[in-house]
Amino acid sequence: MLTERLYYSDSHLIEFEAKVIDVTERVSGWAAVILDQTAFYPTGGGQPSDTGTLNSQRVVECIDDGERGVLHVVQGVTPSRGSVVKGRIDWARRLDHIQQHTGQHILSQSFEKLFNAPTKSFRVLDQSSEIDLEINNPTTELIERAVELANNVIWEDRSITIRNVTADEAANLPLRKEPARSGDLRLIEIEGFDLSPCGGTHAVRTGEVGMIAVRTWERAKGLTRIEFVAGVRALADYRKANKSAREVAALFSTGRDDAPQLAAQMVEEHKELNRRIRVLEELAAEGEAEKLLATARDGVVVHTFEGRDAESLKKLAHALIAIPRTIALLASRDKDTARLVFARSADAVGDMNALMREACALLDGRGGGKPEMAQGGGKKVERLADALTHALTLLNRAS
Ligand SMILES: [Zn+2]
Repeated sequence: MLTERLYYSDSHLIEFEAKVIDVTERVSGWAAVILDQTAFYPTGGGQPSDTGTLNSQRVVECIDDGERGVLHVVQGVTPSRGSVVKGRIDWARRLDHIQQHTGQHILSQSFEKLFNAPTKSFRVLDQSSEIDLEINNPTTELIERAVELANNVIWEDRSITIRNVTADEAANLPLRKEPARSGDLRLIEIEGFDLSPCGGTHAVRTGEVGMIAVRTWERAKGLTRIEFVAGVRALADYRKANKSAREVAALFSTGRDDAPQLAAQMVEEHKELNRRIRVLEELAAEGEAEKLLATARDGVVVHTFEGRDAESLKKLAHALIAIPRTIALLASRDKDTARLVFARSADAVGDMNALMREACALLDGRGGGKPEMAQGGGKKVERLADALTHALTLLNRAS
């Protein structure tokens, strides 16, 4: 292998010197530099690449090119082949990855120990990380038990060491997961807790992970996907959650922890208010119906409203036909829509469905219903009066 990977033996090495052994123009027009040794971790194993600088030029990504070594994608002046460069890793990003990655080892082993639930895959995302677990009947309570164990392991500040073994030696060791490759293996051992083959960057002691919290979980493709945050991300997520919770609490002029109860109360009140509004609307419609009835000719009420929606028209129609021998031909100019509701009481005569179809044809719209009640509408608002007159004429002709 061309590049000696310094991060294998020291995940906290952030400054190093190396010799440029090759330069290629191969990534999005930027040069990729290969060094004889590097502390940069390249994208792989669910962990994103390190970033940093080579001679003060930005290294935006590192790519594992197998036998050829690690490609450092440099934006800026490319160092020449044979020269010696100073490399520097972005420590904040490295620490973040160390915490998520080591946190994952601890969390995965916690699920394994408590519930025999193996981790099928793992990835570090922008804000959080995910593991996909094979676990029976997951519940929030079960998951929180694993989180509890994981945090205890973190706070016990156990040592984390690296062991290089042959495949034969590995075969006799209690590894948490099967190695993904053959040959010699690099094992990560968390003192008295976990032993896994892994090529990533890890903490030196579990305490460095800080803490682990599960944000949320869901069933996905027969597995359980758990979204978690560790270390600096856990603090960032706590700040965000606390801010949201306090903002909601401020709306209720209360303390953060009292807000959920007040919000639940408000939802109940809201439902109750809606029930009361429906009752009041019916009462209002009855009052309105009585007034309109005074304008009726031979029991037929014809009226056009401004800006009334279909639901409101129907309520009024119901109130009107509760009165015997009444027919209601109601219309509304509702913004750019013409609306119609035709209805009759059970003892009145007329096919409202047929009238509606005829009227809607004039509106270039559609409508229908039953002989006792029909509704419809169209876009030709300017023909609403014609449609209503047409319906009334047809009604008078039929009777
Ligand atoms: Zn690892």
